[in-house]
Amino acid sequence: MLVCSALAVQSGIAADSPKGPVNTGRLAATSAKANPLLAASRLPYGFPEFDKIRNEHFAPAFDIGLKQHSAEIKQIAENKASPSFENTIVALERSGRLLSRVETVFSNLTATNTNPVLEQLSVELAPKLSAHQDQITLNGKLFERIAALYQQREQLGLDAESLRLLERYYTDFVRAGAKLNAEQKEKLKSLNSQLATLGTRFSQNVLKETNASALVVDSREELKGLSDSEIQTAAATAKSRGLDGKFVIPLMNTTGQPLLATLENRQTRQRLYEASVNRGSHGGSFDNRQVAIDLAKLRAERAQLLGYPNYAAYGLQSETAKTPEAVNNMLGQLAPAAVKNARAEAAELQKLIDAQQGGFQLAAWDWAYYTEQLRKARYAFDDSLLRPYFELNNVLENGVFYAATKLYGITFKERKDLPVYHPSVRVYEISDRDGKPMALFIADMYARDSKRGGAWMNSYAEQADLFGHKPIIANHLNIPQPPAGEATLLTMDEVRTAFHEFGHALHGLFSKVRYPRFSGTNVPRDFVEYPSQVNEMWATWPEVLTNYAKHYQTGQVIPQNLLDKVSAASRFNQGFATTEYIAASLLDQRWHQISADAIPSDALAFEQQALKQMGVDFAPVPPRYRTTYFSHIFGGGYSAGYYAYLWSEVLDADTVEWFKENGGLTRKNGDWFREKLLSRGGSIDPMESFRQFRGRDPKIQPLLERRGLQ
Ligand SMILES: [Zn+2]
Repeated sequence: MLVCSALAVQSGIAADSPKGPVNTGRLAATSAKANPLLAASRLPYGFPEFDKIRNEHFAPAFDIGLKQHSAEIKQIAENKASPSFENTIVALERSGRLLSRVETVFSNLTATNTNPVLEQLSVELAPKLSAHQDQITLNGKLFERIAALYQQREQLGLDAESLRLLERYYTDFVRAGAKLNAEQKEKLKSLNSQLATLGTRFSQNVLKETNASALVVDSREELKGLSDSEIQTAAATAKSRGLDGKFVIPLMNTTGQPLLATLENRQTRQRLYEASVNRGSHGGSFDNRQVAIDLAKLRAERAQLLGYPNYAAYGLQSETAKTPEAVNNMLGQLAPAAVKNARAEAAELQKLIDAQQGGFQLAAWDWAYYTEQLRKARYAFDDSLLRPYFELNNVLENGVFYAATKLYGITFKERKDLPVYHPSVRVYEISDRDGKPMALFIADMYARDSKRGGAWMNSYAEQADLFGHKPIIANHLNIPQPPAGEATLLTMDEVRTAFHEFGHALHGLFSKVRYPRFSGTNVPRDFVEYPSQVNEMWATWPEVLTNYAKHYQTGQVIPQNLLDKVSAASRFNQGFATTEYIAASLLDQRWHQISADAIPSDALAFEQQALKQMGVDFAPVPPRYRTTYFSHIFGGGYSAGYYAYLWSEVLDADTVEWFKENGGLTRKNGDWFREKLLSRGGSIDPMESFRQFRGRDPKIQPLLERRGLQ
C-alpha cells in the first residue's frame, strides 16, 4: 500500500465544496484586466491563466472574493421569503465561487511551486479564512433557515441527492458549532483562528526543515553504492545550493529515505537516517515540538466545546469508521501480527549482518540496506534491475493511461497550448468512451524545493451538473529530476504511486453528481483512499505491465523471469511496511484521543511512551512519520484519520478479488466500477455504493492474506 496525502479533505463547508472557474459577476469585471484571478479564465475548461497570475494578484483577489461571498451569505440569511431548498441550500452551493476559485489556485500553487511571498500570504490568510468560515457556520439566521428546512425535510419532495445535501448542510453546521451559545461561539472562533495559524506554521516548518536538513556529504567515497547518475544528481544539487564540490541528498517526506537501501557506508546511512528522523525536533526556527503540542491541545479543547470527549471522537463521527473504538479495534487487532512479522524479518537481517561479520546490532538505518541484499539473494533481483524498464513517459502513457483506456474507454491527448506553472508540468485532454472531450489532466511529476513532499491529487475544477463544469484534475509526485539529458527511471514504488494517484484522478473524473458538495473525492477520508488503492492493481497486471515496462534504451519488454521474481517478492518486507504504517496510525490516534486536560509537555517523550504502550516500539522499525514532521495529521486533512489507508485497503483488497473473479482488465468490469462506485462521489452513503458495486458487505480476509497477517 502507498500512502499519499491526497486531496482537500478539510473541515468546513467552503473547503469541502470548492467550486470551479465561472463568471464572477460585476465586482470582478472592472479590475479583471489587471488581475487575471478576478475574471473567468478564457482558456479551455477555465484552465487557470498561470502565465498571467503573479504573487501580487492573490491578496486583492482574496479581499474581493471574501467580500463577495459575505454579501451572498447575508442575502441568503436575510432573505424575506420563507426558506426553501432552492433559496437556501442551492443558493449556498452557488455562493462563494470567486473566493473558491482564488483559493483553489492559491492552495495548489503553495503546495506545488511556492515562494516566500506566497508563504507569507498564506500565514496572513489562514486566520482570515477561518474567521470567514465561522462567519457563515455561526450565522444564527442562516442556521435557522437550514434547521427549518431540515425539520420538514421529508415533506419537501426532494430527490435523494438533494435530501442528502440538506442533511449534510445541517450536520456540517451543527458540527461547526451552530448550536452553541454566543459565548461559546466566541470561544470557538478564537480556537479556529489559532488552529488555522498553527496548522499553516506546522506545514511551512516541515517544508523548510526538510529542505534545510538535506544531507551534505564531502566525498564521493562516502556515497559508495549509489549509481553514477545518483551521484551526479547529488553533486548537481550541491552546486545549485552553492556547495560546489560537495554532494547533497535531499530528504523525502517519510522517515525512511530511498537511498538508505544502497548506501554502503554505515556512517552515511546513519547520518541520513538521523537527518530525517530529527526533523522538527532539534531546536532552531523550524522546530515543531511545541507546535504539535499546541495543536493537539487546541483541537481537544475545540472538541470538548462541541460536546465530544476528544478530537478523535469528533473527527471520526463523520467517517465510515464512526468511533475511536472502531479504529482502535482494527489497529489493535492487526498490530501484534505485524510487529511479530517485523521481528522475524529483523532476525533474518541480523543473520545476514552476522554472516558478513558486521559485528553490530541491526539499527533502523540498516534495515533497507540489508533488506535489499536479502531481496537480491532470495529473489535474484533488486530495484536497479527494474528501473530501466520504468521510464516515466512509458509508465504514464503506456501504463497508467493504457489501463484506464482498457477499463473505461477513455483516451488521452497531450495539450501543449495551455500555460503551466512550471516547465516540467504536462497537460492532457481526456476524451470519454463516446469520444467527447471530458476533462483536463495535469501531470506534475518531479520533485523541487518549492513543492511539498509526498504525492497527492487535487483539482482546479470539479464536476457538478449544477454548474455544468468539466473537471481539471492534477496528480503530483516527487520523482527526483535526473541529470540533464538523462531518462527519468522510476522505482517500483514510484510506479505504484503513479497508478495510485491516478486512481484518485479517476474518482474525480468520473464524478456524475448534481451538487459540488458531493463531487468526486468529496467522500469520507477513510473511503477516499479506496479507489486509488484499487487502481494500484493494474501496475503489475501482466497485460498492462508488458505494455509499459520496456527497456528505455533497447525497447525490450521486461523479461518474464524478472516479472515472476517481482511477483514472488510481493509479500517480502510486509512486516516492516505494515508496522511502520500502524505505528504512525496509532500515534495519530494517541495525539487525538487525549482530553484537553491531559496534554503532554514533551512531544517526543509522549511519542515514545505511546508507541511503547501500544506495543509498536520496535526501534529498527520507526513510525513512517514522527510527530514533528507528520504533516498529514498536523498540517493536513488526516488528523485522527491516518488509519484511513488501511481501513480503505479492506475495501481495496476485496475489490481486487472481484476484478480477478470477473476476468480482470475489461471494459465490462471498468464500466460497472465506474457506474456503481466512481461516479457516485458523496451523493449516496459510501458503504451503500460499495454494497451496490460488490453485491455484499466487504470482507477483511483478502487484506489479511495480502499483508500476511493471518
Ligand atoms: Zn491516496
